[in-house]
Amino acid sequence: MAEKFLMVGAGLSGAVIGRELAQAGHEVEIVDTRNHIAGNCHTERDDETGVMVHVYGPHIFHTDDAEVWSYVNGFETFMPFKNRVKTTSGGQVYSLPVNLHTINQFFGKTFRPEEARAFIEAQADKSITDPQTFEEQALRFVGKDLYEAFFKGYTQKQWGCSPTELPASILKRLPVRFNYDDNYFFHKFQGMPENGYTRMVERILDHPNITVKLGVHFDRSQAVDFAHVFYSGPLDGYFAYELGRLGYRTLDFERFTYEGDYQGCAVMNYGDFSVPYTRITEHKHFSPWEEQAKSVCYREFSRSCEPDDVPYYPIRMVKEKALLADYAARAERESRVTFVGRLGTYRYLDMDVTIREALDTARLYLSKKEQGIKMPTFVHSPI
Ligand code: UDP
Repeated sequence: MAEKFLMVGAGLSGAVIGRELAQAGHEVEIVDTRNHIAGNCHTERDDETGVMVHVYGPHIFHTDDAEVWSYVNGFETFMPFKNRVKTTSGGQVYSLPVNLHTINQFFGKTFRPEEARAFIEAQADKSITDPQTFEEQALRFVGKDLYEAFFKGYTQKQWGCSPTELPASILKRLPVRFNYDDNYFFHKFQGMPENGYTRMVERILDHPNITVKLGVHFDRSQAVDFAHVFYSGPLDGYFAYELGRLGYRTLDFERFTYEGDYQGCAVMNYGDFSVPYTRITEHKHFSPWEEQAKSVCYREFSRSCEPDDVPYYPIRMVKEKALLADYAARAERESRVTFVGRLGTYRYLDMDVTIREALDTARLYLSKKEQGIKMPTFVHSPI
């Protein structure tokens, strides 16, 4: 029998779960407090320059998951795109992630791969056997000089605290390569939606059983009209922040335009702590198949997220983890709601993982329904 579902949030999680349920014959209502769909991967054409802008900062689609890749390609053409990030540090421009070119340029050498590996190994602090913090991980794997040039200042700006307070897992996102491969990601599939992420999400939502309502604030009393709620808003927001707020970093973007090509690449990081922004994004380089005379760039500043700001990166340090455990326990006592996505589970999630989890969540719901088993509050645990 067809049921009615509420998706709170019209980002990737809400859209993908909603689509799966709609295709299975159910009615789906999707609400979002913002006046646009696609959450933080929202893209928009800039009126002044005609450039497709990543409104909430750079989003590059990369995955090893063949099903997710085929899923997104089913809704939008993905154009070939390799993320080649540069970084400015100490008055020079280097290539990221740290690769043979970066190492040779930084140390003024002409190392071949094995020589560079031995050299970096000699720089590494081998007294650190089981790195726990970001700093320990960096000192263990790249040594003090590279750490200070490329990671220390950037990370301090990005997270607003010392890398000695951050978990090693954040640095583990970045590889070190002993060849000239400067592709930021190592995934099999990588690309950029031809007409932006918002167009892709629009098509995912384009189904007769789906209704989207924008500018709508959700409160728990609305849940009674639905068989189940999939909630992708902030976990603490669901409980009206009763126990306090989970910490996030937010971003401020300082927009500027330029006649021509401002920096020659999509993303230029700034490793020095003395430069107040973390990076500059020049959006037209995300669509290299298009041609625009003018350019639009965002200088990106990171700071602590206040109540009216857009939450970006969950902080997940000791203090937040304790509060998270309390909210998660409270969530477990709710029925007919499943918390999903980056904000619903308070995790740092890439887009492909978000889609994978959303597909799995919808399928789990449908199979549990068939067997008459209750759907869990978290399919993917926030803890
Ligand atoms: N990072 C750094 N220097 C850089 C780029 C990244 O120290 O030039 C660190 C920083 O702490 C960041 C983490 O590595 O939060 C992960 O980087 P990634 O590029 O994955 O961050 P995102 O694009 O998700 O913000």
